[in-house]
Amino acid sequence: MAKDRLIRVAALSSGEVVVDLKQRAGGRGAYICPMWECVVVAYKRKALEASLKGGVPTDIYIELLKNAQLATGDLWKPKRKR
Ligand SMILES: [Zn+2]
Repeated sequence: MAKDRLIRVAALSSGEVVVDLKQRAGGRGAYICPMWECVVVAYKRKALEASLKGGVPTDIYIELLKNAQLATGDLWKPKRKR
């Protein structure tokens, strides 16, 4: 996915972590797909914490979920019952 379609999360020099939808905030940045599944996986693996080298409030992940959508096609297929 092109970088301009990813959501940027920035760790500002003040230590505050923000969802940087306009991609204009300074500080260290991490990018995440605007897909619900990717946000959930990142939350479980603490991927943003690793990229930003610091704590990320749960509120940030909630905000990401609000800006995400369900993946379709190959990215996500519902499991069928056998
Ligand atoms: Zn993804």
